[in-house]
Amino acid sequence: MRFCLLASGSKGNAIWVEEGPLAVVIDCGLSAKEFKARAAMRGLDLKKLKAVIISHEHRDHIQGVGPLARSLDLTVIANAATQAACANFVGKVRWDEFATGDTMNFGHLRVQTMSISHDAAEPTAFVIESDSGALGLATDLGAVTNLVRQRLLGLRSLILEFNHDYDRLMEGPYPWPLKQRVRGRTGHLANEEAAELAARLYHSDLKHLVLAHLSQTNNTPELALKAANQALKEVIEPIAAGQDEPTIVFDL
Ligand SMILES: [Zn+2]
Ligand SMILES: [Zn+2]
Repeated sequence: MRFCLLASGSKGNAIWVEEGPLAVVIDCGLSAKEFKARAAMRGLDLKKLKAVIISHEHRDHIQGVGPLARSLDLTVIANAATQAACANFVGKVRWDEFATGDTMNFGHLRVQTMSISHDAAEPTAFVIESDSGALGLATDLGAVTNLVRQRLLGLRSLILEFNHDYDRLMEGPYPWPLKQRVRGRTGHLANEEAAELAARLYHSDLKHLVLAHLSQTNNTPELALKAANQALKEVIEPIAAGQDEPTIVFDL
């Protein structure tokens, strides 16, 4: 399995996951044009792409879903509540549906879905498995629930939300209601919380730890990496994904 974060952050998210001849993308918060340009930049073959799976309906996850799906003839997959919440915005596409908790199969990829705590209709995180191992993908977490912690145990690679530095958020320019939303149980994880989760999930076969969904206003890659390195005592070299350019293509 290979994966690449084409963009990550509150201005747009898209995560490419492929196994052999087939790829899916989790979310497309980029314009279709930008998505294609970034895929090309990393040598990812758009012909492999079969589906866009939507984690939740916030704009940073669905901005380009409609145009991308229409131009590449992709199926758009979401749970019923998410679909209802964004169908108008996404426009005419071929929909497919999962019930949160289901596993979907795409060739040799098995995409497991799980419910998370975030202020959207029915937000989901994912564990994507193939014969080469499993990738856990959890961003937009208001809180780390037992379910999330359990499901992310023992995976080969992890993409975890490191949204904000607590002090930066509190001292930063966001109005109070927004600060409260971010900090709430349905908001976003702070670096320290995410680092603690990463440390709990660490095991000697963990190959990649990607810090994702960093706020450009309330975080920096340096702060996120510092928190992760402190919690993990530098047993692994985490990589911070960014908004403006794609990550490398990771090999699971
Ligand atoms: Zn988001
Ligand atoms: Zn969100």
